[in-house]
Parts: sequence; C-alpha cells; structure tokens
Amino acid sequence: MEQIGTFGAHRTTIGDLQLFRDETDSSVADLLANCAVVRMAKGRRIEDGSHARLYIVLSGQLEIAPDTHADDESGTSCINPGESAGEQAVLDDAANLAAMTATEDTELLVIEPELVWELIDRSHVLARNLLRLMSFRIRAANALLRRRQKLGEFYRQLSLNDPLTGLYNRAWLNDMLPKLVARASQDGTPLSLIMIDLDNFKNFNDSHGHIAGDTALGVAAELIRNTLRPSDYAVRYGGEEMMAVLPNTTPQIAAMVAERLCLKLRAAIVFPDMRLPLPHLTGSFGVATLSKGDDEQALIAAADAALYRAKEAGRNQVCD
Ligand code: GH3
Ligand code: MG
Ligand code: MG
Repeated sequence: MEQIGTFGAHRTTIGDLQLFRDETDSSVADLLANCAVVRMAKGRRIEDGSHARLYIVLSGQLEIAPDTHADDESGTSCINPGESAGEQAVLDDAANLAAMTATEDTELLVIEPELVWELIDRSHVLARNLLRLMSFRIRAANALLRRRQKLGEFYRQLSLNDPLTGLYNRAWLNDMLPKLVARASQDGTPLSLIMIDLDNFKNFNDSHGHIAGDTALGVAAELIRNTLRPSDYAVRYGGEEMMAVLPNTTPQIAAMVAERLCLKLRAAIVFPDMRLPLPHLTGSFGVATLSKGDDEQALIAAADAALYRAKEAGRNQVCD
C-alpha cells in the first residue's frame, strides 16, 4: 500500500462518501482533508494486523471475506466507490479478521480510529449514517446465518435418512439406538425391536427387474412407516432388511405390531397397474425386547435370531 496524497488534494469530495452523506459542516471536511489516500494494486490484500482502521473506497473495488477461516464464499461482499469497510473493528476496537482484497487497482481513504471517534463526536450526520450502516450489516449477517443454519439442517437430515425409502438409515441407528437403550434401562420401560427381511427378494428382482424391486422396497417401507405409531422409528438396516424400533412397548404388543405388519405386507399392492402380473411380496419378522443388562448389540442379535427362525419356519411369518 503506497500513500499517493491526502483526501484534501483528491478529486473526490465529502459528498461522494456514503458515511458523510448529507453532511454540511465544513469543519468535518477539514478534519478529513489531512487523511491519507493510498493506492492498492489489483490482487493486493490489506495487512492490518491488530490495528483497525476505517477505509473508504475512492476508486476501484475491495472484496471482503468476513472470516479468514470460512471455507465457502457465500459471505463475501464487494465495497464500491463511496462505501466503507472496517468500521465495526474500529468501533469495538477489535482486530479486523476480515480479508480485504483489491479486485482492481484501488484508491482508498484511510481514517485512523482516533479520528473516527473525533468525527463521530463532531458529526451527528456521520453517527446516524454509521448506525444505519451497522444495522444493515447486522441484518445481512443474520440472514446469512439463517441460510447456513437451514442448509446445515438439510444436510443433517440427508445424512440420517435413506434416499430410496425415506426411512432412517444405519448412521441414525448407530447414533440413536444406544440412547434409546440407555433411556429404557434408566426408566425401566420395555424397548422392543422388530427385524424385517423381505422374502425371496432376489427372486423378485430376477423376475421383475431391479427397478420394480426398488419400487417394492419403497412400498414396503411406506407401509411399515404408516403402520407404526408416531413414537416408533422405522429404519432401513441394509439391503431389503428393515427394522422397527418400538420404545415403551412390551413383547406382547411388539408381536402384535409385527403380525399386523406381516399381514399388511402380504396384502400390499405393489403395482396398481392391473395389466402387470401381480407380484408376490411377503416378509419375515423377528421380534425381541431388551433384557435387563443387555446392550443394543445384544438386542439386535436377539431380533436377528428370531428373524432367522421365521425364515427357517417357512417365511411370511413372525417369530419371537
Ligand atoms: P430370503 O427370503 O432368504 O431373505 O431371500 P432373499 O432373496 O430376500 O435374500 P438375499 O439376502 O439372498 O437377497 C436379498 C436381495 O435383496 C438381493 C438384492 O438383490 C436385493 N436387494 C437388496 N437391496 C436392494 C435394493 O436397494 N433394491 C433392489 N431392487 N433390490 C435390493
Ligand atoms: Mg430377504
Ligand atoms: Mg436379506
């Protein structure tokens, strides 16, 4: 950054500066006249360290990335002739962490913090303009935060749901099942699990194609989700295996729920188009309830063992 003169000698007048708009007091202009005007070559960055200053762009453009650690560019803004940068750091006397880079050859008016305060004391117009600008900046920063929050929530949902069926996925299960087990153990309430595996699904794929298989999987998943209570959870465990997690549910009730699921699946219409042959879709169900002292692995293993018995006994049925 090279000083090329003072503001008093520059072609720009005080009326061109956003912060001094409507200022008529000539003593304010006199105070600014001795401030340095510097030139920054395109691509150069302001290296301020801990010394905050107020900058006003006289010609060219500054680009501001608010946080040097930010890994996206959604927060960058451009400062055009007449606009200012660095005012917040001057006001709260903090180091300016924003990265300010000239996007073209740029001339800047530099105002030291002591003079900023003197100008504020002198000029109500400047104080008002500064308040308006800060209010605008806070609004913009809040809007950016809200956008990031929404995006974060969107990706969180995405990472916990299975895209094909819309059910919770294994990542969700790994996170939540230990918590549900801990809560059930603590409260002394029964936690039940139904492991569900579609029958002969390889055959289904072979005879109707993989796309029809995906549709059938989606129908089965929706049926399971709609049959459960709002306090239950439906999870895609993997492949054509799904799981219902039933908090506060006794073994008897869990077996009833599994029977209802088995019946509904058997009656499900996968393809409403009657011109296609109606495919046969059934499932096998293994039910287990958390025993005292067991962890989530033991619970899954018990439901898995029950499912195996249902398969062995001829499929299309419930075992516990
Ligand atoms: P069983 O009654 O013993 O469970 O027989 P099965 O054929 O269902 O068992 P197996 O585990 O041998 O085969 C599971 C099949 O499920 C294999 C695979 O093609 C199919 N499958 C798993 N995930 C998907 C999927 O996302 N889409 C489709 N279309 N098929 C899937
Ligand atoms: Mg299967
Ligand atoms: Mg399977």
